[in-house]
Amino acid sequence: MVQTIFSDTIVALSTPPGAGALAVIRLSGPAAISITASVFSRKSLAEAGGHTLHYGTIRDPASSDILDEVVVALYRNPRSFTREDVVEISCHGSDYVVRQVLALMLRQGARLAEAGEFTKRAFLNGALDLAQAEAVADLIASDSALSHRVALNQLRGGFSQELRDLRARLIKFAALLELELDFGEEDVEFADRTGLARLLAEVRGVVAGLLRSFELGNVIKNGITAVIAGRPNAGKSTLLNALLREERAIVSAIPGTTRDFIEDEVSIDGLRFRFVDTAGLRDNPADEVEAIGVKRTRQRVRQAALLLYLFDLTEMTPADVQAEIQELTTGLELPVLAVGNKTDLASPEIQNAFAAEFNATIPTSQATVPLVLLAAGRNQGLEDLQSALLTQVRGSALENTASATIVTNVRHARALETAALHLAAVQAGLDTGRGTELLAADLRHALAALGEITGDISSEDLLTSIFTEFCIGK
Ligand code: GDP
Ligand code: ZN
Repeated sequence: MVQTIFSDTIVALSTPPGAGALAVIRLSGPAAISITASVFSRKSLAEAGGHTLHYGTIRDPASSDILDEVVVALYRNPRSFTREDVVEISCHGSDYVVRQVLALMLRQGARLAEAGEFTKRAFLNGALDLAQAEAVADLIASDSALSHRVALNQLRGGFSQELRDLRARLIKFAALLELELDFGEEDVEFADRTGLARLLAEVRGVVAGLLRSFELGNVIKNGITAVIAGRPNAGKSTLLNALLREERAIVSAIPGTTRDFIEDEVSIDGLRFRFVDTAGLRDNPADEVEAIGVKRTRQRVRQAALLLYLFDLTEMTPADVQAEIQELTTGLELPVLAVGNKTDLASPEIQNAFAAEFNATIPTSQATVPLVLLAAGRNQGLEDLQSALLTQVRGSALENTASATIVTNVRHARALETAALHLAAVQAGLDTGRGTELLAADLRHALAALGEITGDISSEDLLTSIFTEFCIGK
């Protein structure tokens, strides 16, 4: 048993509230096992070893009422998530049972856990570092294969290890600089400036790479907002519904709804896309209401990460399409996909001619716009659209960073930015032969910023802001 920080025992429901087959109530703290044993049918629980399961009943000692038949999972300090004694009671998932068991635990001396308190204890007892603790939140929230993989890597400490290595090497230099300062006026250089410059260049490269990965990390964690724009009757709603149906058919049995989707999320190959269906675009809106709709569309396009311009293949010329895309994206650096709909109404010859002309009419000022032809109303060509979307979004970036660390957390990105600034200042100081004192100060700031990510350096404020974002029971 190791010494841990907390003397009280916390309890909370760790599964989502509401009816379910099972609910898990978790206790952590020095009295977790004795409190459970005091209401459990098998008193031998108090002496049981860690990593064991026990079937029995929970009984209120005051009334002798049996509350539920349960399975108790027991973990002993330090071999548990929080490093404290931990008990997980799997009971039947009714709100009533859960409330009764929780109330009983409180009467027996446990305290209701605050949001994120289990994970906070895991961190403060040294079981996780800060980046790992945040990964727990990400893992719980991850709803695509990729975001799950990134969070899991972070939880396993991949990111933290990379940062610690960087810091350890910088700290060596910082220590030598501090030593020079201790010698005061004497003109000694313990820290080899050439070596420091080389190390700095390397560390700055790694930090810059991590910062670049944040853009992708953000995409993985929060998804990509893609606006579907186009004239009325192009088939925008039909396309959105087709994309949603396609996914639902594969991933879940949610029955199709008749709701007209305006905005919804679709996961394609592990990446989350948030599609926004917009009001139709027209040059001369028929009335004021429609004009407002068009204005909103332009606003949404400005906020989007990707524009999917949909048009009726039988109604527009390639030049029209190019012109409308250009108008929508003037002044924006936005990836665009041109999607010609209703191929079922156009012969293969017409389609080929359209594609050839489209590619030939690209204005020189504009990057190439990939063209996809499909029939949303017939569920034809959707796979082509999906692969075009993936190519457009991840490009080569994802392939290049697939095995490396991807920063997904805003706090981490901010700290990396701060570190990058101070590292640049150290570099500038070296280049201009600035005094040891200034070099040492900038290096300290950079180290502090890197240390904040893993919590090697942390303030109470920082911890509070991180852990209160969790929900109760985590
Ligand atoms: P929106 O105004 O852009 O949202 O267009 P809608 O999705 O409401 O579709 C307009 C019309 O085009 C509807 O009558 C659809 O049934 C029809 N439509 C959509 N996709 C296709 C398609 O692939 N082929 C054909 N023939 N009609 C389609
Ligand atoms: Zn529509």
